[in-house]
Amino acid sequence: MSKRVIVIGGGPAGMMAAGVAAQRGLHVKLIEQNKMLGKKLMITGKGRCNVTNACEDVQDLIANVPTNGSFLYSAFYGFTNAQTMEFFESMGVPLKVERGERVFPVSDKSQDIVSAMRRFLIENNVELICDRVDEILAEDGHVRGVRCQKRGEIYSDSVILATGGLSYQGTGSTGDGYTFAEDLGHTITDIRPSLVPVQVEEDWVPELAGLSLKNVALTVHNSKGKKVYTDFGELMFAHFGLTGPIVLSASAHMRNMGRETYRLSLDLKPALDEKQLDARICRDFQEGLNRDFRNSLGKLLPIRLIPQVIALSGIDPYKKVNSVTKEERSQLMHVIKNMEFQVVGFCPIEQAIITSGGVSVKEINPSTMESKLVSGLFFAGEIIDVDAYTGGFNLQIAFSTGHLAGSCC
Ligand SMILES: Cc1cc2nc3c(=O)[nH]c(=O)nc-3n(C[C@H](O)[C@H](O)[C@H](O)COP(=O)(O)OP(=O)(O)OC[C@H]3O[C@@H](n4cnc5c(N)ncnc54)[C@H](O)[C@@H]3O)c2cc1C
Repeated sequence: MSKRVIVIGGGPAGMMAAGVAAQRGLHVKLIEQNKMLGKKLMITGKGRCNVTNACEDVQDLIANVPTNGSFLYSAFYGFTNAQTMEFFESMGVPLKVERGERVFPVSDKSQDIVSAMRRFLIENNVELICDRVDEILAEDGHVRGVRCQKRGEIYSDSVILATGGLSYQGTGSTGDGYTFAEDLGHTITDIRPSLVPVQVEEDWVPELAGLSLKNVALTVHNSKGKKVYTDFGELMFAHFGLTGPIVLSASAHMRNMGRETYRLSLDLKPALDEKQLDARICRDFQEGLNRDFRNSLGKLLPIRLIPQVIALSGIDPYKKVNSVTKEERSQLMHVIKNMEFQVVGFCPIEQAIITSGGVSVKEINPSTMESKLVSGLFFAGEIIDVDAYTGGFNLQIAFSTGHLAGSCC
């Protein structure tokens, strides 16, 4: 009789693991509590699914994993980003590469990625079970199977735990896997949000909720004033603070939140240096020298942002532009190039793209993904204490660790 494997969790890591194990001729049951597979995968990349990153080599992949990147050497070498792309193309999903080497389906539909993975499971005869696992069964340091809510005990020779993290809990990642792993003696490292919106101190920010700024630059400074990170792209104001792609990316670099404080500096016109910006402001002023200062910035800045920029500049909004001094222009430029925010914390983990922390990598064999404490127990995906920056790296972690666990179980 072929070896029996149970995979808990039908996200990208669990589906990859199940399909690969079944390809090896093992008898695989994939247990997912949701009616549909890949519920979180469906909402990735704003419904377009940034499926991996087309960076040059494995070193680049590892460089984008700030927590325990080197743990992933074997997993990334065993199933690279190029192989992820080949996999989906061979499953009939053409891919394209966008800015920052981000890879998406040509269709811009994450549904195509989910459907391809589902086909991979069905073609390889994976048995799909819709149920919730309540416990992993183990005896004498070896797994025996699982206990499910509806079906009761199901026995197997190996169990692959791929229940994800704690963010976006509506998709099913409610943290069950941490409890299962802990019950079997594993250490769960500090669970924190990553790639998450930030809360800021400035009380005027909520008034701008919903305002989106494109082509702006954001820099993160730590309490010593050291530049920690800088990025260019889109940012949004929200009632609690700031969000949008560059804010989410920046949050992953504020790694000591709580022990350290961070300030953000927003450059509203990164394409213009101070000289070019001054020339631009003077040109706009020339168009109506008798206008009030408050009516002179409409071509340069979004209308909703103007009152705040004026307030921060300290210039009288009713002053005629022909009497705005060079010094005042310099104050205005300073605000436009360095709009400052004091970060007071992250939004709750529920709103995070990624969970940082998880099953300690010290207790997992990096060459197989097997537990060092319980034989026959394997881990895959976000449940492991690894997390990456944005750009498709987190899904690559899920696919690579899933592939390795499925190959070694
Ligand atoms: C809004 C959003 C957008 C994202 N966009 C991207 C992107 O474009 N690119 C990228 O690389 N990453 C992205 N990510 C991150 C990426 O989605 C995750 O890293 C990835 O889904 C993790 O895969 P996983 O299989 O480990 O876990 P999950 O995808 O969370 O899957 C875990 C599964 O386990 C199931 N499960 C949990 N407990 C049980 C139980 N007790 N019994 C049975 N089943 C259970 C859950 O229902 C769930 O389906 C995004 C995340 C979010 C929230």
